[in-house]
Formats: sequence, structure tokens, C-alpha cells
Amino acid sequence: MSFDVIVVGGGPVGLAFARSLAGKGLRLALVERQPLTALAEPASDGREIALTRRSKRILDELGAWRHLEPADIAPLRAARVLNGDSSFALAFDPAATGDDRLGHLVSNHRIRAALFRTVEDQPGLDLMTGVGVASIRHDSSSVAVRLTDGREIEARLLVAADSRFSRIRDQLGIPAAMNPLGRSMMVARMAHDKDHRGIATEWFGHGQTIAMLPLNGRLSSAVLTLSAAEMSRIATLDTPVLGEEITRRFGRLLGSMRLVGGLHIYPLTTSYARHFVARRAALIGDAAVGMHPVTAHGFNLGLVGQETLARLIASAQAKRSDIASPNLLRDYERAHRLATRPLYTATNLLVRLYTEEGRAARLLRHATLRVGARLPLVRRTVTSLLMQN
Ligand SMILES: Cc1cc2nc3c(=O)[nH]c(=O)nc-3n(C[C@H](O)[C@H](O)[C@H](O)COP(=O)(O)OP(=O)(O)OC[C@H]3O[C@@H](n4cnc5c(N)ncnc54)[C@H](O)[C@@H]3O)c2cc1C
Repeated sequence: MSFDVIVVGGGPVGLAFARSLAGKGLRLALVERQPLTALAEPASDGREIALTRRSKRILDELGAWRHLEPADIAPLRAARVLNGDSSFALAFDPAATGDDRLGHLVSNHRIRAALFRTVEDQPGLDLMTGVGVASIRHDSSSVAVRLTDGREIEARLLVAADSRFSRIRDQLGIPAAMNPLGRSMMVARMAHDKDHRGIATEWFGHGQTIAMLPLNGRLSSAVLTLSAAEMSRIATLDTPVLGEEITRRFGRLLGSMRLVGGLHIYPLTTSYARHFVARRAALIGDAAVGMHPVTAHGFNLGLVGQETLARLIASAQAKRSDIASPNLLRDYERAHRLATRPLYTATNLLVRLYTEEGRAARLLRHATLRVGARLPLVRRTVTSLLMQN
């Protein structure tokens, strides 16, 4: 079976990329190891994705936004950062731009379902689900993929969107800097007594980071980061005790909190691939850059990267030139590195600054927040980053 592009991984970025190439006269295969039902009706994974305005624009253009119910979209009106016991807060709000929100919060499984609906009947796209990749051969003219069910498919370009633990990246021989952080992130929906007013809070406490993301109604997504050992204790708590624990850890800022639904725990590993391309192959999404979730940019950057690559491919296709030429792949790599490296580095520095417990680190982060508050430029930069069109 012969295609123009094989995409491996039907996560949100792989689906968005397949959709971005719709109507360009290309034959596509999308290989996903989960069964079709898991793509069509993904189960909740607890992640609430903070989408920038640019991501909303991309999802709109892909036709995915209209598949979201209004109840699935929560406005993110403002954000504030707190440090330890200090009553000082660094605030981000969109007032200066005349907008009423910084971005939107949408559950990851709703985004995945919406994107799936855009591709399920896409002409020229073969969805190959319930199957993985056994081996890859690639040379200067084509790439051949043997699937785990024995089928062999080939294409002009292979695109890996198979997560930060990408096996395709390994099979292509692309090294990646993997950083297991020894910390875990718990996400859980909490009902609470007080109104969050659409404000997200990120609170760097002692030994913990806790964020509260505002959902519709008196509901928030609690995002708690702790050492892996401490997290194993939290995971064993029964529902009412966990509610009390989160209430206490969040300093009762939203009153008493109760767990709604399940608990999801993610061991934290960040990753950055040394190259985003190889012969007739490219990495997108987390397979290229696995961000720390604390600055909420992984999917946002993944959407930007897939859009960049799809545009280059569409333009080459329109000119009837090679859609996987070394120059084209280099252009993608350069653009995506530029879009991701500064944020990846800044996020990792932030994580270090806010997880170190020594007195010097505490004073430094206090000073950083104060300085940030005095520099309108810093606030404006962060706000405009969130609000990029
Ligand atoms: C707790 C948490 C909160 C987050 N919050 C935000 C946020 O607020 N904003 C934001 O922008 N980002 C956020 N992120 C990051 C975001 O979830 C990821 O960046 C995004 O899911 C990456 O999408 P992806 O499609 O690249 O990879 P994934 O979502 O990892 O999907 C990979 C897909 O590939 C499939 N697959 C894997 N291996 C194979 C194989 N060998 N063959 C076939 N298929 C394969 C998998 O089954 C899966 O469907 C958060 C992440 C976490 C953990």
C-alpha cells in the first residue's frame, strides 16, 4: 500500500496534522495503536488544556472548534502566581488588550474527540487503528513501515506524533534529551464553595506546586505536583480525605473542596529531540518537544508545529515539488526549534527555581515575582504569549 504521508500517532497533534493536509491531493495513512472506539470516544484523562488564542484559531480553521459543546469550553479570564506564604500575587489579565479572556480551558479528551470528527470521513485518509509499527526502513526516495499486523505500507514522508516516549523517534535513530524529574502531577476535578471568577491560580508552595484551573460553574481542575514518593501516599487516600487534603493544600482559598470523578497521576518527564527530522521523516507534537505541563504549552506548541509542517508540505505539493526534500525538512526544523526552544528552556528554569527548597531559592523566587510585577513588560510579554493569534 502506497501513500504520500504516513502519520504515526492519533493523539491530538497527529489528528490535527492529518486534518491540516485535507484537500491537498495527498494520500494519507494514520496509524494508531489504540482501537477506533478510543479515538471516536476518548475516555477522560483528567487533563484540562489551557488553549491560547492562536490554538483556538487553528482548531477553528481545522473545523474542530464547532464540534465542542459550549459547556465544554471554560473561559480563562485571568491568572495569578503565588509564592509560599507571601500574600503577594503576580497577576496576568487581558485588560490591556481589550479582550475579556486570556484563553480557554477544554478537556483533552473533548479536543481529541472534536479533532477525530474532522478526520473520520476525510477523503484520501486511511485510518489504521489497533495497530503499531514493527519496523521502519527509510532511504533518500521513500520510507517503508512494517505494521505489527504484518502489513507493509510505504510513503514519501513519515511523520511521528507518537508521544514524548516516541518509539518511532528511536527507530529513526534520533536521540532525545529525556529528563525524568522524580516528581508526579495529579489532576482531579474539584467542586468548591467559593467562586473562582475564571481566574487560574498557580501557587508555588513549600515542597509542592498546586494550580487551580477554573472550569464552568463552581468547579476547578486541581493540578498538584509532588515528589513521586509523596504522590504514592496521596493516591491511596479515599475520596472525602482527598477533598480535605486538597482544601488544606490550597489554603481554603476556594472554601471546602470535594473530588468529582477520578484521579489521574502523571510521572513527569520532559524531553527535547536533538533533531526534528531525519531522511524522509519528521517529528511533531510531544515526539519533538515534551514540555513540562506547568506552563501549559505542550499542545499549543504541538499545534503550531504541525501547522508549520503542513504549510510547507502543501506549498511543495502545489508546486509539484518533493514534499519531503531535505530543504523542506530543514525549514520545518529551524522554524519549530525557534518556536519551542526559548519556552522549553524558560519553563525548565522556572521549574527548577520553584522546586528548590533552600532559603536562597525561596528568596530568589520571591524577588523574581516582585521584579516581574514591577516590569509591565514582563507581564505584557507573558500575557501576549498566552493571547497570540
Ligand atoms: C497533566 C497535563 C496537563 C497538560 N496541560 C496542558 C495545557 O494546559 N496546555 C497545553 O498546551 N498542553 C498541556 N499538556 C500537554 C499535552 O497534553 C500534550 O502536549 C499533548 O497531548 C501532545 O499530543 P501528541 O498528539 O503529540 O501526543 P500524545 O497525546 O501523547 O498522543 C500520542 C498518540 O500516539 C499513539 N501511539 C504511541 N505510540 C504509538 C505507536 N508506536 N504506534 C501507533 N500509535 C502510537 C498513542 O496511543 C497516542 O494516541 C498537558 C499534559 C499533561 C500530562
